[in-house]
Amino acid sequence: MALLTACGTMGGVTRIVIIGGGPGGYEAALVAAQLGAEVTVVDRDGLGGSAVLTDCVPSKTLIATAEVMTTFDSSYEELGIIVADDTPPLEQQARVVGVDLGKVNRRVKRLAIAQSHDITQSVTRAGVTVLRGRGRLGAGGQAVDGSREVLVDAPDGSVQSLRADAVLIATGAHPRELPDAQPDGERILTWTQVYDLEELPRELIVVGSGVTGAEFAGAYQAIGSKVTLVSSRDRVLPGEDPDAAEVLEEVFRRRGMNVMSRSRAETVKRVSARTEAPEGPSSPEAGEEGWVGDHVEVTLSDGTVIRGTHCLMAVGSIPNTADMGLEEAGVKLNDWGQIQVDRVSRTTAPGVYAAGDCTGVFMLASVAAMQGRIAMYHALGDAVQPLNLKTVASNVFTDPEIATVGYTAADVKCGKMDAVEVKLPLRGNPRAKMQGIRDGFVKLFCRPGTGIVVGGVVVAPRASELIHPISLAVDANLTVEQVASAFTVYPSVSGSTAEAARQLHIRKRADGES
Ligand SMILES: Cc1cc2nc3c(=O)[nH]c(=O)nc-3n(C[C@H](O)[C@H](O)[C@H](O)COP(=O)(O)OP(=O)(O)OC[C@H]3O[C@@H](n4cnc5c(N)ncnc54)[C@H](O)[C@@H]3O)c2cc1C
Repeated sequence: MALLTACGTMGGVTRIVIIGGGPGGYEAALVAAQLGAEVTVVDRDGLGGSAVLTDCVPSKTLIATAEVMTTFDSSYEELGIIVADDTPPLEQQARVVGVDLGKVNRRVKRLAIAQSHDITQSVTRAGVTVLRGRGRLGAGGQAVDGSREVLVDAPDGSVQSLRADAVLIATGAHPRELPDAQPDGERILTWTQVYDLEELPRELIVVGSGVTGAEFAGAYQAIGSKVTLVSSRDRVLPGEDPDAAEVLEEVFRRRGMNVMSRSRAETVKRVSARTEAPEGPSSPEAGEEGWVGDHVEVTLSDGTVIRGTHCLMAVGSIPNTADMGLEEAGVKLNDWGQIQVDRVSRTTAPGVYAAGDCTGVFMLASVAAMQGRIAMYHALGDAVQPLNLKTVASNVFTDPEIATVGYTAADVKCGKMDAVEVKLPLRGNPRAKMQGIRDGFVKLFCRPGTGIVVGGVVVAPRASELIHPISLAVDANLTVEQVASAFTVYPSVSGSTAEAARQLHIRKRADGES
C-alpha cells in the first residue's frame, strides 16, 4: 500500500534535501536515510558544521587542557602533591607547569577535522549524498507536484539544481560582530579564530559574559592568561540560575580574573607598535606605561579604556539565513533573521523545515539534532513527539561547571511553575571534602503537591555528568521520593542529589501534615 507522507509524496522514494551539515543537518540525514528516503546534504564548510569545526568540539577540547590546569592549581597544595622536588609549590608551579598553546591548538584542530571526517563517513555509509557548496531555495517556489527546488553553488562556480519533496534548512549561525570592534584574526578575535594562536595571550579581554564568554574567560585564565571579562549586565551568565552565576563569578574573582560588571564595550581597536611607537620595543609590557607595543584598547560606554594584548569578542551570533531565497519561498523570519518554526520543525512554507541555530529555538547541538530528527519523522510520516524544551539538559563548561535541566528559578519566580526548591552546598558532601571541592551545590525543584521533580541545577566539577539522574527524573516525571530511594555510591557527589530529594520529600510530608 502506498504511504502518504507529510510532505505529500505518494509511493516511491521521498527526496529530502538538507542545507547545512551540522548536528541539525547530519542527524536528520541519518534518520531520513534509515526511513528509506533519498537524502542529499549540501554543506559549505564540512560535515559536523560549526559545532564540530569551530564551536562546540574545539572549545571543549581547549577546556580539557584548562580543566587539568585548574584541578592541579586548585588542589595540589591541599592534596599533598609534590611536583618535582622540594622547591616551594608556588615556584614549582610557575617553573614546571605551563601550557604550549600552539600544541593545544594543533590538537584542537586535529580532533575537529577527524570528527568531521568520521561524521562524513557514517553519513555516506548510510547512503546519503554529500555535496560541497552553498545551498539556497530556488526562485520557483513549490512546483505542481509539491516539490521544491534547491540550488547549489559549488566551489568551482557551477550551479546545480536539485528537486526535493521536503527541504530542511539547518544552516546554523556565525559570530556577531560590532561595527566598531572588527576582528582581525590576530589581536581582535571571534571564538572561531582563537585556534590559530601560537602563543598564549598574555592579557586577554573577553567582551561578553554569556556562556561562550564565560567559558573562554575561565579557560584562558586556567591556562595562564591574565583575563578581564567585560560584562554589560549585573553579573556573569545573566541567563543562568542566579545562585550558580554568583558562585562562578566569585570563583573567577578569587582566581584573579578582573570581572567588570555593568560595562558595555563600545569600541575595540588594535594599536599597532609601528604606528604608535616606531622606535619602541614590540612587547606590550616593555613600554613606559606598559602599553607601547601591539595591543588592543577597549573603550567602554562610560569612556573608560582598558588595555590588553588580545580581545575575544563573544557578543552573540547571527543566523545564517541571508540570501537563501527563504522569504521569497514563504519562509517567515523573525526580527533577528531566525527562521520561525513550530514544535515539529515546520516553517511557514509547506515542505520546508528548519532546525538548529538558524531557528534560535535553543542554541545547543543536542537541540539542533533533535529538531532535525523531528523534522524528518514528520516529513516522512513516522511517529513524532513534538520538541519539549523543558527536558533539555545543558551545561556551561566553566570550572566549576553549571548544569541545568527543566524549570528554573526564574520560571518559579515569575509564576510559570509552582515549585519548591532545596539547595545543598557541596561543602557538606563527603566526596567533595575528600577531593578538596568547596564551590558548588545541587539544587532541585519539585511540585509542592505531587513531589514530581521539575528541574535541577548542579554546580560542580563535571556537573555535565552529574545532571543525568535529574534529567531522567524530569523526563520520566519521577517524584522526589523515587529519586531519594535509589541507591547512590558512598562517597559520591551524586549522593547530594539523593539527599536534596530526601529533604524535599521530608518537607513535602511536613507540609502535608500541617
Ligand atoms: C563557542 C561555542 C561553544 C559551544 N559549545 C556547545 C556545547 O558544548 N554543547 C552544545 O550542545 N552546544 C554548544 N554550542 C552550540 C552549538 O555549537 C550549536 O548549537 C550547534 O552548532 C548548532 O548546530 P546547527 O546544525 O544548527 O548548525 P552548525 O553546527 O552551525 O552547522 C551549520 C552548517 O551549515 C553550513 N551552512 C551555512 N549556510 C549554508 C548554506 N547556505 N549552504 C550550505 N551549508 C551552509 C555551515 O557551514 C555549517 O557547516 C557552542 C557554541 C559556541 C559558539
